[in-house]
Amino acid sequence: MAMRNTLGVHALVWAGGWSREECRTAIRESKEAGYDLIEIPALDPGLIDVRDTEAVLKDYGLQGVCSLGLSFDADINSEDTEIARKGEERLMSALKVVEGIGGTYFGGVLYSALGKYPQPTSEKARANAIEALSRLAARAKDLGITLGLEPVNRYESNLVNTAAQAMEFIQEIPSDNVRVHLDVYHMNIEECGMYQPVIDCASKLGYVHIGESHRGELGTGNIDFDAFFAALAAVKYEGVITFESFSSAIINPSLSNTLAIWRNTWTDNRKLARDARAFIAHHIEKAWGGG
Ligand code: MN
Repeated sequence: MAMRNTLGVHALVWAGGWSREECRTAIRESKEAGYDLIEIPALDPGLIDVRDTEAVLKDYGLQGVCSLGLSFDADINSEDTEIARKGEERLMSALKVVEGIGGTYFGGVLYSALGKYPQPTSEKARANAIEALSRLAARAKDLGITLGLEPVNRYESNLVNTAAQAMEFIQEIPSDNVRVHLDVYHMNIEECGMYQPVIDCASKLGYVHIGESHRGELGTGNIDFDAFFAALAAVKYEGVITFESFSSAIINPSLSNTLAIWRNTWTDNRKLARDARAFIAHHIEKAWGGG
């Protein structure tokens, strides 16, 4: 049976950075593990060789998308106009990377810095974020690119922690190319369950991250995958599902520390990625009941 969903894998399973060598390794390994898409972190868009990446993706017949979280010195979720402007600039340059590698999706914590804020957000900071994202979404629409806002747990943003908050946020952005990007790792911390939030944001659901409660090997933690995949089947979600996992075995200098990846949850990334793909495919088939 043909897979209903495009299955992707996060580049951090393979490589911490994006040198020419790392780019080739990550794309080749993704393909060999059976994935059709790789998600490339673009926290520092200037580090990505766009032409080279596009060529390697083409060589392997793999789709590429980008994701990021902003930083506190370049954050659209800030009252400080200059910091918000820097955040918007970074989003715009990352959008160029997505366009350059032939991607049609740009997601993650686009609306905020990735990290623990010392206070709740404010009306002004939220308004700055809405304005910047409205401009980003308009430009993305011209390029045929969809944006995804990923609710993350309270230690990683103070602005959008739940699917319901993402839905409210999206309603304030005029363009129609902004979607909810759900991640079960964050849902497990912030939502009331794994089923109802999917139903509630079904009309805007555009991308999915699958990860374990400790961000290691699937099936060895506390996530209720049966409930989550049942919800995806109930809303007939046929979009991208990307496996996301982090271990101190593969380190990205900025992302790993921000995500508090202190422990080694795996060392054999090939086995990890193949097992994860099989785990996800099994859950999709089971949830759809072969129908
Ligand atoms: Mn995620």
